[in-house]
Amino acid sequence: DMEIAIKVVVVGNGAVGKSSMIQRYCKGIFTKDYKKTIGVDFLERQIEVNNEDVRLMLWDTAGQEEFDAITKAYYRGAQGCVLAFSTIDRDSFEAIETWKKKVEDEVGPINMVIVQNKIDLIDEAVVHSDEAEALAKKLRLRFYRTSVKENLNVDEVFRYLSEKYLEE
Ligand code: GDP
Ligand code: MG
Repeated sequence: DMEIAIKVVVVGNGAVGKSSMIQRYCKGIFTKDYKKTIGVDFLERQIEVNNEDVRLMLWDTAGQEEFDAITKAYYRGAQGCVLAFSTIDRDSFEAIETWKKKVEDEVGPINMVIVQNKIDLIDEAVVHSDEAEALAKKLRLRFYRTSVKENLNVDEVFRYLSEKYLEE
């Protein structure tokens, strides 16, 4: 069989847990202070979906979320996108549509998913679950709640994007 490789970009405001999510998914680890390894643009993980081997390449935006020129190069060629916000960061939720547009302006319409991370901190939530669901409905996107810390639902996000890609 031909090997299938999918480039996925994980975007969202700083500190929502993007780098942690990629580390968790590809290396199986969670650390409190993840520092990007200089020179590494992405991590990868191979999974099986519908009897096909899929190689997921997960691109991180290097903690330079505010520098458009740098991050645009990361989006190029992406076939999937995780739009991430944090349970305890209202601004990160309100920025989701802007992130969606930024990615689409660069790569056109691709498979996307909205992820509410840090669901383990639900007691401190500043985003109502109704609001998040309404946004997902409005944007017609699948919505997942994850805890990278507790390793909750992270695999499901990337499996979903892989399945969507294979459906095309
Ligand atoms: P990024 O800027 O979006 O890449 O965010 P990071 O991955 O650097 O994470 C920012 C902080 O949030 C770090 O201290 C992480 O350990 C923490 N973090 C990430 N995911 C979770 C989670 O699911 N729950 C909790 N409680 N903290 C998390
Ligand atoms: Mg980061």
